[in-house]
Amino acid sequence: MSTDSQIKTRKFASVNPATGEVLGEFVCASEEEVRAAVVRAGAAQPAWRAVGVTKRIAALREFQRRLHERKSQIAAAITREAGKPRAEALVTEVLVVLDAARFLIDNARRLLDDESVPHGNLATKVKSGRLAREPYGVIGIISPWNYPFSIPATETLAALVAGNAVVLKPSEFTSLAALELRSLLHAAGVPEDAFQVIAGDGATGAALVHSPIDKLVFTGSVSTGKRIAMAAAERLLPVVLELGGKDPMLVLDDANVDVASSAAVWGAFVNAGQACLSVERCYVHRSLYEEFLAACVEKTKKLRVGHGEDGQTDIGPLIHERQLQIVEAHVEDAKARGARILTGGARVPELGKNFYRPTVLADVTHQMRIMREETFGPVLPVMAFASDEEGVRLANDSEYGLAASVWTRDAQRGQRLARQIEAGTVMVNDVLSCFGISEAPHGGWKSSGIGRTHGRFGLEEMVRLKYLDVDRLPGMKKVWWYGYGERFAQQMEGFLDLQFARSLRARLRGAARALGVVKRRQL
Ligand code: NAD
Repeated sequence: MSTDSQIKTRKFASVNPATGEVLGEFVCASEEEVRAAVVRAGAAQPAWRAVGVTKRIAALREFQRRLHERKSQIAAAITREAGKPRAEALVTEVLVVLDAARFLIDNARRLLDDESVPHGNLATKVKSGRLAREPYGVIGIISPWNYPFSIPATETLAALVAGNAVVLKPSEFTSLAALELRSLLHAAGVPEDAFQVIAGDGATGAALVHSPIDKLVFTGSVSTGKRIAMAAAERLLPVVLELGGKDPMLVLDDANVDVASSAAVWGAFVNAGQACLSVERCYVHRSLYEEFLAACVEKTKKLRVGHGEDGQTDIGPLIHERQLQIVEAHVEDAKARGARILTGGARVPELGKNFYRPTVLADVTHQMRIMREETFGPVLPVMAFASDEEGVRLANDSEYGLAASVWTRDAQRGQRLARQIEAGTVMVNDVLSCFGISEAPHGGWKSSGIGRTHGRFGLEEMVRLKYLDVDRLPGMKKVWWYGYGERFAQQMEGFLDLQFARSLRARLRGAARALGVVKRRQL
């Protein structure tokens, strides 16, 4: 890790990716400042927990009201900083967060409540079991730039409603969106120290991992995720890792080509392809291949690339030059290995530095980077397959396993194939919208991550389980305590027969042997 003085002097700016305009300037929080923020959060957390779930839900309700009231301004701010069209900022950022708040307002009390746990074993029936869910304390959140509002907000709301304090380190490319979240939460009644935002880069993120947080929720690339997992292992810090994807779309021979091609085009190009759930690999049954490609090309050519503020824009800029270089390298590699560029495949310099044309590639193979590495740009690579088995095999031939989709007119067949695909979410006849289903757990298999955010399972990540065992007969010694001997062992055999023998006769015999266990002399 960098030294404290190095971090202290590092500065960075938030820049409009469409125009290059500097929107805000920041100094990276130092290790000391990160630690101090976490200590303050830890001090504030017991009081936040003590206000109880009813008041915490009330804060979420107020947050939701304020966010709804300011939806246009927040969407505009996201568009300025991340480049996405305003419609996308409203639907994939603001709406997702409003609905995540709705889910928690309606369900958090029930989901966080104690559960009674009935015991089946006769020996433990005298004890009453309860499952309690307790907040961790301070949850550290590290987030990426591609959904700069909805990702940190959904995670933060779940952490807060469960009674945790949160320290958020947003991406250095989109700190302003995180500051909007902070204003809304504080105005809604969340104490200042219970939700803090620390500005900074990767080294600031690393300082948060090494600070006294109680759990980390990280969203970002696989390579950073692995670094974080190694740092977390040193002190067994629990982590949720929401990492990259290379999501396959499987178009079966009975699919509706018009609908599936529209889905492929939207799924590959939404947010300029910078979505973890983007369609990054498209497999089409060979009987539909040419027709599907033609439909995708026709629809892609109609898309308008432009500035997100312009209401006519379908595809905004990429976030920065480095991202464009990755996209170009993948397209060049595919071309060199024999892929056909049917449309796109170039920058749009007349619009600005960061614009890239939506691109459809045909005849790609699994030897190409475009089918193996996360591209994270507006590229739709399409490959033919001959049978359902081959389609599933190709879909699973990836280190990633975030999400996938299957396209068919036969829902049964779709579900059958969905069950064979190695991914955290498989949609039948839709793409990406699973991120907006507040009830659905979001998370990946294989290199795409560990743990879940969103819905019931996302909320469960924000609490530690405590099992409360209360004995109903406190005046009685347990029969399994000392006082062993041959007779006791025989009685225990009888007790095991009583519970687990297959025949009624053997059970009754077991009961007879077990009798007297409680009467023996014990220590
Ligand atoms: P990134 O890994 O470069 O950065 C993510 C965050 O980690 C940033 O805040 C960054 O400052 C911080 N960071 C960098 N190095 C760090 C370190 N050593 N220790 C601690 N923090 C560090 O990712 P990105 O470019 O911001 O985001 C794009 C990636 O995120 C893509 O791979 C995308 O698929 C993934 N993503 C995944 C999901 C999901 O839910 N699975 C959602 C959105 C994005």
